[in-house]
Amino acid sequence: ITTGKKPHILAFPFPAQGHVIPLIKLSRLIATHGIKVTFVTTEHICEKLLSSMSDHDKGQDNIVLTSIPDGLPPQDDRCDAFKVFESLKNTAGGYLTNLIEKINESNSDEKISCVIADVTIGWVLENVEKLGVEGVAFAPASVATLAMTLHIPKLIEEGRIDENGTLTGIEIINLSDNLPPWIKDEVTWCFPLDLNLQKIFFECSLITQKAAYRAKWLLCNTFYELESSACDLIPNLLPIGPLLKTNINSKFSSNSSSLCREDTTCLSWLDRQPASSVIYVAFGSYAVFSQHQLDELALGLELSGRPFLWVVRHDLANRSRVEFPDGFLERVGCSGIGKIVEWAPQEKVLCHRSIGCFLSHCGWNSTVEGLSKGVPFLCWPYCMDQLHNQKYICDKWRIGLRIDPDGN
Ligand code: UDP
Repeated sequence: ITTGKKPHILAFPFPAQGHVIPLIKLSRLIATHGIKVTFVTTEHICEKLLSSMSDHDKGQDNIVLTSIPDGLPPQDDRCDAFKVFESLKNTAGGYLTNLIEKINESNSDEKISCVIADVTIGWVLENVEKLGVEGVAFAPASVATLAMTLHIPKLIEEGRIDENGTLTGIEIINLSDNLPPWIKDEVTWCFPLDLNLQKIFFECSLITQKAAYRAKWLLCNTFYELESSACDLIPNLLPIGPLLKTNINSKFSSNSSSLCREDTTCLSWLDRQPASSVIYVAFGSYAVFSQHQLDELALGLELSGRPFLWVVRHDLANRSRVEFPDGFLERVGCSGIGKIVEWAPQEKVLCHRSIGCFLSHCGWNSTVEGLSKGVPFLCWPYCMDQLHNQKYICDKWRIGLRIDPDGN
């Protein structure tokens, strides 16, 4: 880092929970080495971050949090990440350029010399490079998923998928025969079956692919031993994980890095449970369930007879309010067998001695967190790379079991 007298990095995540959290952790790690970090996100996400942090956290951090508009009218719903993505395509490059120019003009000792941008919005690296600033891409998924994305042109060439990412054969395929054998065995092509969603995910993959090739370095929340064969495939890859709060200098480790306020009452509830007894149930920030699935899950947890801590986001039910089976809340509440929270301090929960297993959707962050804390998984993947992560967990690392959500 050579441009400014004091090193200064700008970090720019894709504005969704599973992308913002690991980049904040990385930023905190960088900041502990005395490097200034300007963390830029959309106004909407910035507001959420600030409101989820305690005053203590705000005072402790040596990261400058700043925001740019997402380009959507104020009244628009920001829960739809893809709408935000579409808008950012037209606006983020310009806003980021202006911000960097402004920072660099106002303080010649602390010029931004490097931008770390999420690969999903990797086109901003083009804008950044025009300013003479180094571009680094950050991928919050597994390297194996990334490697598959980088092979998209080959898959198209072989006719396995068409130009829109639609599979030409069956719904989920193993990869091309021309790819390294381990990829064929380990990775599945698992875009959603909804055509609109698939189109957007495929577009994200193409952007990821370009950014991964363009960036000087490609940072990934993994470590070499976890995915050595995948890491060997990508020359500019730096496996900088696992990104865990507990890996960050203790001065910063208490900081919240969620977009939602964590309900810490579950920690004292966990204190009262026997060692290795509790089923921790959490499905990340956007997976949704049908009412039937929620009913079955609730009754299954109750019937297991085990204490359970269940993260039930208000938007966990597909298109409606979350409802529990008749009398469920009263029964599990009275017996004290179940604890339900809107959002948990997940890493702290996973470290707790009373946790016995993690019923998870297998999002990459949850996967890395759970395996780093040595917690066995029960896998209930929702979509995309979560299916691949499940395969890693159950078949490669052998630290978890699949559950069949349809009960077959
Ligand atoms: N998380 C949390 N509290 C919760 C549920 C999740 O702090 O109650 C965090 C979790 O620790 C992880 C992130 O939210 O860092 C979810 O990321 P992941 O990649 O697992 O799933 P996504 O939300 O992207 O589907």
